Amino acid sequence: MTVFLCTACGTSYDAPRPPEHCPICEDERQFVPASGQSWITRNALGDAHRNAWRRHEPGLLSLQTVPAFAINQRAFLLRTPTGNVLWDCIALLDPATEELVRGLGGLSAIAISHPHYYTTMQDWAAAFEAPVHLHASDRDWVMRPTPSVRFWEGETLDVLPAVTLIRAGGHFPGGTVLHWAGTADGAGALLAGDIVQVTPGARRVSFMWSYPNMMPLPAAEVRRVAERLAPWSYDRIYGAFTGQEVARDGPAIVARSAARYAEILEDHRAGHTNGPAE
Ligand SMILES: [Zn+2]
Ligand SMILES: [Zn+2]
Repeated sequence: MTVFLCTACGTSYDAPRPPEHCPICEDERQFVPASGQSWITRNALGDAHRNAWRRHEPGLLSLQTVPAFAINQRAFLLRTPTGNVLWDCIALLDPATEELVRGLGGLSAIAISHPHYYTTMQDWAAAFEAPVHLHASDRDWVMRPTPSVRFWEGETLDVLPAVTLIRAGGHFPGGTVLHWAGTADGAGALLAGDIVQVTPGARRVSFMWSYPNMMPLPAAEVRRVAERLAPWSYDRIYGAFTGQEVARDGPAIVARSAARYAEILEDHRAGHTNGPAE
């Protein structure tokens, strides 16, 4: 058996030859490229790529594969007094990354926002002997079974002190964000994946059923996502892609963005007003 990675989404499969299908890409929340599905072995990925690191604030690093691979999301390494958490996952776990993470104390837990970022979580979990916390609502999207997955149910899960997973829903029924109360300044941060999508100006966020196919969520579900996040206190929001960082006032931005989104969906006239926005 060889580990093959889908080059469109980064999902890994154990197979004797390249698979015919990638169910993650065939779902309408992802896409099969016009040129067809293609594959790379886990070893070949490491030959052509490396991971680049960035420090965002004390205790928070991100890592992202260069040149870009598949969806090109970043993962975060969250360092806390009681252990490190890998938030979201990327396909490339090369020897350099493994040695660096080990040097920082390894991983106590892995948590992933939704199936588009499951990638090679099985390999990360095995390398660091860490559990992978996934919301049970998305359990059918695990393409390589691993004993390391812990499916959690309900609305929140305390992973470590000051590190809580919140089921926000939206893009996937089990769509999860990570709340970190233990930032150095005490203000807190939200690691949002693309469950809460930070938009280019970093003063708004958005919520979609399918990002590549540009299919929105129902207004009622957007309101539910905002309601699930409303009780939480935080300042910064870190999204799945480079540059997606809300610097302050995260809760107000989420509340305002969700309200406006629902307003447009519920009343088409709201999208046809003239003049500058307030
Ligand atoms: Zn795929
Ligand atoms: Zn996604």
